[in-house]
Formats: sequence, C-alpha cells, structure tokens
Amino acid sequence: MELRTEKRIQGSIELRIRKLGELGPMLQGTPVRKYRKCATPDCPCKQGKKLHPFLVVSTKVARKTQTLYVPVAMEETVLAWVKNYQRAKTLLGEISGLCEQLVRMHSGRARVASQRELLLESNAPQTFPEPSSI
Ligand SMILES: [Zn+2]
Repeated sequence: MELRTEKRIQGSIELRIRKLGELGPMLQGTPVRKYRKCATPDCPCKQGKKLHPFLVVSTKVARKTQTLYVPVAMEETVLAWVKNYQRAKTLLGEISGLCEQLVRMHSGRARVASQRELLLESNAPQTFPEPSSI
C-alpha cells in the first residue's frame, strides 16, 4: 500500500520534471501595460488623447523594482516566456512538496525500522512479551 503510494508520488514528480523540460524559454516578472506620449508634434497624444501603449516586464531585485521595456514585435513572445516562468515556479513548488512527502514517508518508516532493530538487538527478553502474558 505504502509502496504503491510512493511509486505514485515518484510518478507525479517525474511527470512534473518532464513538463518543466518542455516549457521552453522563461522570463521572471510581471507584465505591465503602460501608456506614453510620442515625439510626433501633431499627434493626438499631445492633448492627452489616445496615448501609445507599450509593455514592460517589472521585477523586484533586492527590494528595488526594475522594469524591462519590451519591443512591440516581441510582446507576444515575452508574454509566453513570462507564462512559462510562472508555470515552472508552480511545478517547482509541486515537485518540492512531493519530495517532502517522500522524505516524511521514509522518516516514518525509518523510525519504525530503528525501533524494531533496537528491540531485536537488545538482549532483554522482557521487551518481548511471552504469548502467555498477553
Ligand atoms: Zn503620439
């Protein structure tokens, strides 16, 4: 029963590792749509109408926010990279949780095994109740 559970957990880990490998390029950060005025003299944006949208990816490095300007031609690609990063982060968290489960399973089993060993190694027959005393 426990072995089957362990096998299932290991299978879940392997599946997630495979998925990680299939993700492709990743970029950390939060995509933020911003708007700006341009340099064209007669553009409606000069009156604050119809500002020009652009994309940045914002990240926090050592408690400082950094923004990465994304060229329009790369927007779709960069959004996919950001999504890949978020998916990878989720998968890493899941893998870590599953590995933790395996460790806990083994430490439980190790505790039972070491108690059994202690009982077997000890030369104190009083630790083994005689069938008549039960
Ligand atoms: Zn403009």
